[in-house]
Amino acid sequence: MKTPANQPSRMLNTGDSIPQLGIGVFKVDDDECERVVLEALEVGYRHIDTAMIYRNEAAVGRAIAHSGIPREELFVTTKLWNADQGADATAGGLATSLELLGLEYVDLYLIHWPAPLRDVYVETWLALEELYATGVTKAIGVSNFEPAHLERILEAGSVVPAINQVELHPAFQQRTLRAFQEPLGILTEAWGPLGQGKYDLAEIAGLGEIAQAHGKSIQQVVLRWHLQEGVIVFPKTVRKQRMIENLSVFDWELSDEEMVLMKSMDADRRVGTHPEDGNW
Ligand code: NAD
Repeated sequence: MKTPANQPSRMLNTGDSIPQLGIGVFKVDDDECERVVLEALEVGYRHIDTAMIYRNEAAVGRAIAHSGIPREELFVTTKLWNADQGADATAGGLATSLELLGLEYVDLYLIHWPAPLRDVYVETWLALEELYATGVTKAIGVSNFEPAHLERILEAGSVVPAINQVELHPAFQQRTLRAFQEPLGILTEAWGPLGQGKYDLAEIAGLGEIAQAHGKSIQQVVLRWHLQEGVIVFPKTVRKQRMIENLSVFDWELSDEEMVLMKSMDADRRVGTHPEDGNW
């Protein structure tokens, strides 16, 4: 059982479930990351989102080992970096991640970016399908894929991605992409669920009032909104107090009117790299 009883989960197209809220560790240094993940596990998180390029998989692995929590109660995601894409390199990318994590399998393995100028994401997807078949990853998916990228792997492959992890926050809601992928059984994960702190959430008209009405922080309202939208989130914080705050969003609800109001906050405001430009 990967999701604690009091937490919401989503069912992947593999039949496994994923805790809907986790902790993300982008930009958490390896030497701090062990403490961060251990504290997150201590306060109740069971879902960790890392990536090869975050250079902290070893610390995530140490935290998991030291936590004493049975492997089957954790949901661990990592991602294949662009330089490791391709028919030949992909299996090595996952093998290296597993070694660093000290795990025999991950729960979800993602192609980090389509990197269209490299243009090897289709063969990379086929390599992921082979890895999935061997059980070293329990689910496979993609990140930062636009509909055109998804169409190509759906056409060439035989497994539908379980997940597409994309930038998504109140000012950038990805309605077109979600309308395309969700009917296919591809769940949406939000990266930068709080806008990465790159704009002040309090400046969005109406958000402060909703937070006040519920006696919650604006960040909690935004996380609650993601959950009610069916989106999977893993806000990043290195502070234990904020880990607890971000996890305290399960026993109250936004009203239908508040959800409609938040839908109207979409402003097509991307704060990160456009998928066509992520060709590092
Ligand atoms: P985020 O939206 O989670 O924002 C993180 C910022 O919000 C941090 O500065 C943190 O201090 C602040 N914050 C967190 N909780 C808070 C609270 N309760 N009150 C006030 N401030 C708070 O941005 P992110 O870290 O970029 O995204 C989350 C995760 O998504 C990452 O850690 C990573 O795992 C993943 N991610 C994936 C990609 C990708 O390309 N697939 C890109 C970026 C991030």
